[in-house]
Amino acid sequence: MNKKTVADVDVKGKKVLVRVDFNVPLNENKEITDDSRIIAALPTINYLLGHGAAVILLSHLGRPKGQVKEEFRLKPVAQRLQELLETKVFYLEDCIGEEVKKQANELQPGQVMLLENLRFYPEEEANDSAFASKLASLADIYVNDAFGTAHRAHASTTGIAQYLPAVSGFLLNKEIKAMDTALAGAEHPFTAIMGGSKVSDKIGVIKNLLNKVDSLLIGGGMANTFLLAQGYNMQKSFVEKDNLDWAQTLLAQEEADKIKLPVDVVVTDHLAEDAPYRVVSVDAIPENWMAVDIGPRTVAIYAEIIRQSKTVVWNGPMGVFEIDNFAAGTEGVARAIGETDCLSIVGGGDSLAAIHKLGVEEQISHISTGGGASLKMLEGSTLPGVAALLDKKTGKEIARRPIIAGNWKMHKTPLEAKENIAALRTMVSGSEAEIIIFPPFIDIPIVASEAAGSNIYWGGQNMYWRASGAFTGEISAPMLIAAGCRYVLCGHSERRQFFGDTDQEVGRKAVAAFAHGLIPMVCVGETLAQRQAEETHSVLCKQIRECLSAIDRAHAARLLIAYEPIWAIGTGVAAKAQDAQEAACYIRKQLVRMWDKDTANSIRILYGGSVKPHNIQELMACEDIDGVLVGGSSLDAATFADMANSYR
Ligand code: ADP
Ligand code: MG
Repeated sequence: MNKKTVADVDVKGKKVLVRVDFNVPLNENKEITDDSRIIAALPTINYLLGHGAAVILLSHLGRPKGQVKEEFRLKPVAQRLQELLETKVFYLEDCIGEEVKKQANELQPGQVMLLENLRFYPEEEANDSAFASKLASLADIYVNDAFGTAHRAHASTTGIAQYLPAVSGFLLNKEIKAMDTALAGAEHPFTAIMGGSKVSDKIGVIKNLLNKVDSLLIGGGMANTFLLAQGYNMQKSFVEKDNLDWAQTLLAQEEADKIKLPVDVVVTDHLAEDAPYRVVSVDAIPENWMAVDIGPRTVAIYAEIIRQSKTVVWNGPMGVFEIDNFAAGTEGVARAIGETDCLSIVGGGDSLAAIHKLGVEEQISHISTGGGASLKMLEGSTLPGVAALLDKKTGKEIARRPIIAGNWKMHKTPLEAKENIAALRTMVSGSEAEIIIFPPFIDIPIVASEAAGSNIYWGGQNMYWRASGAFTGEISAPMLIAAGCRYVLCGHSERRQFFGDTDQEVGRKAVAAFAHGLIPMVCVGETLAQRQAEETHSVLCKQIRECLSAIDRAHAARLLIAYEPIWAIGTGVAAKAQDAQEAACYIRKQLVRMWDKDTANSIRILYGGSVKPHNIQELMACEDIDGVLVGGSSLDAATFADMANSYR
């Protein structure tokens, strides 16, 4: 698989949203009857916790159809997970909203939180982008480890990947790899075994597999339709008349000799544990009886083909295995796979149940946790949840996702802001960069409503560090949060120059920002006089120490720093890329001293000062420059979009 996994990104100190498949079966007492899906997600969760991430888990459970239904709460899952992890699992009764945001913000590295059933909101299955962006706003990185829902394009499986760097978890990766190996690089003889109730569910799979495999063994209810197509009287057997033509056409085509059908079947007159049954040839089904399993002669023929195979893919039981008397065909096939030294892959909910019932798990190379998703893969389709993840490619560490930020300063009325964002959102929808707009306070509500559901974030140009009180003319962190801001600029050079912001104050603002769930973008930089006096390093060193020393390690990795040489702001004189890189590198070294190497390598450093479409590429190519803070050139939507789109 050419997709990035959790192991490819730096997660230390980050908030990581993990989509898991905790859709476990519950009994009337809300007890989990099978926790294998929870167990399957543990490697990714443990890895993240062990690597210093704060883990926020997302899942669905059952089919609550967009409503809060008590019986589908994830509480029992949280309890079971807590036992398995042997660590506290914070369980929240919602998956979005103020309280969730607050709790997610307070979650520390090494802690894990489970949010409520995503499908309590109809927006989840509708892949609503505003809902996806609300989920995304809780974290820095998104991990998909829910193979079972990867074939669905939902808000938590594809929508969210539009807003955060998206990678695969270990389970998803393992599932995809196993399927890819079987489908793309199968060793021959390659045998597919298809069963289950309906042909209609698996037409796509049969089409895709027939030219790849050497044999296609058909059993279960779907065999009946094929036998009928061959002219046998199937009596009361379950058949799909609608697919009779299709089956006939398939059996008439060139590769039809690969298809094997039952020669004998187990028949009964009704489906019950104590129903009478016997084995008959397919041409001798008694009147009013039905075929419910493949017979022993068929099992022997199928088993012989399986024994000669190097690769076996199996989906769907050979009979109504839920009833013991009709389980022999499924068991016979399972045992043959078990006895064969081949790569064997089994997918499908009922196929899995059959394997567990028969206790032959150990003999199978790979048991897929996702029925629908594995079928989609067998059909040859790409899963939307996988397609949405980042490709493995070299370049900058993606935990340092590029940022293109626009500072509107004291420009634009609300009406102008509205027009700008309305245009900008469609222009930048394909950008892979993190796009941030810092509008004047008065424009924030209109920017928020125009940007909702797009990949544009917004933030405040400034704030006061106290949460409330008699401070005329000021705005607080909780107010910015309430307006949907994710970021806040602290200590922009113009604030320092014209309004007397000191390093100490900037530091207080940064701490207050983190405390209320905002990500501060702390600005530093030297004046022309300081540069000419060769004081650049000492100025930066002092600013960093005084602005950042009060930020604790748990928050530090999410910090943003903008290096703005004051002599390059509004003067049209940009720093040379080389000078900007040199300063950014010096800043990163100070960050290592302040915290540690991993933390310093996660912090994104931006360059600001006369950034224009013509010099952005050169600046962004610098190793330690992870983004740009654009002033004047951010005012025109098309110009700014041009810059944001250098990252597709
Ligand atoms: P999976 O979940 O593994 O993809 P399916 O859902 O397609 O499998 O099919 C499983 C169901 O098919 C089982 O409930 C089984 O009882 C039923 N089934 C198997 N053989 C027959 C048959 N001959 N007649 C009717 N139903 C059958
Ligand atoms: Mg099924």
